[in-house]
Amino acid sequence: LRVIVLGSAAGGGVPQWNCRCRICALAWDKDARVKRRTQSSLAVTINGEEFVLINASPDLREQIAGHAVLQPRSGLRGSPVRACVVTNADVDHIAGLLTLRERQNFDLYATQATLSALQANPIFDVLAPECVARKPVRLDEAFEPLPGLVLTPFAAPGKVALWQERENLEIGVEGETTVALELRCGSKRILYVPACAAATTSLREKIAGADVLLFDGTTFTDDELIAAGLMQKSARRMGHLPMSGRDGSAASLAGLDVGRKIFIHINNSNPVLIEDSPERRWTEQAGWEIAYDGMEIVL
Ligand SMILES: [Zn+2]
Repeated sequence: LRVIVLGSAAGGGVPQWNCRCRICALAWDKDARVKRRTQSSLAVTINGEEFVLINASPDLREQIAGHAVLQPRSGLRGSPVRACVVTNADVDHIAGLLTLRERQNFDLYATQATLSALQANPIFDVLAPECVARKPVRLDEAFEPLPGLVLTPFAAPGKVALWQERENLEIGVEGETTVALELRCGSKRILYVPACAAATTSLREKIAGADVLLFDGTTFTDDELIAAGLMQKSARRMGHLPMSGRDGSAASLAGLDVGRKIFIHINNSNPVLIEDSPERRWTEQAGWEIAYDGMEIVL
């Protein structure tokens, strides 16, 4: 089981096109302490020949260009990408589907809620139905997008995508709008939770015993975007549990038996992206790694 982190950043990437916050400014200025990062996506393979994409970020074309294993290898047209699994309808998770047009056959897996959001946006019809099979998945029901790779979606506490928000927004709701994935191959188990608003008991039980946890690392503190003057929304209002604090993710997930704990989906406001920052040291001392583009996990 091999997982390649194609994109480790949250929406906007690092640096974000219109941002000169402390961290984006360092990234624009090519400071060695801040790695550039593209938006949220994984590539998963068992045999090294066939791949499943987990989420399709707006940076997908650049991500494929940066990884030879994802490029066409023979014949006139073709791709090692056999399937794409989308965990919710966030722009940073679905916009890359538009890059996957050009009449390539693959399977597109998502919950009915996410498939309905795609169906309501006719621009996604560029994925011709005779080439791209849209396959609904159900919470807590396993499916096998590649032989030997068993994925099980489950509800993570969250909210609908930003562009779907209406007046009666509910945060922390558990349903089909925000899903996490369990990846299994034989006895190996990886959990991918790129968005999560709360560390519930059921989530902690699911995580316990995993070989690897990839968890929502959007912000370090709850008021980070407000304090930096970037936005008037807290992390929790955006459906993300901050890393730090008494009930943040590091504290809430401490003490679970997990092989490796890795933060992913990291927003460009998050000071852990500065490699010598106190926040980065704090996170590492708490037993967490910080994902970066090109990171590989092999089990
Ligand atoms: Zn920024």
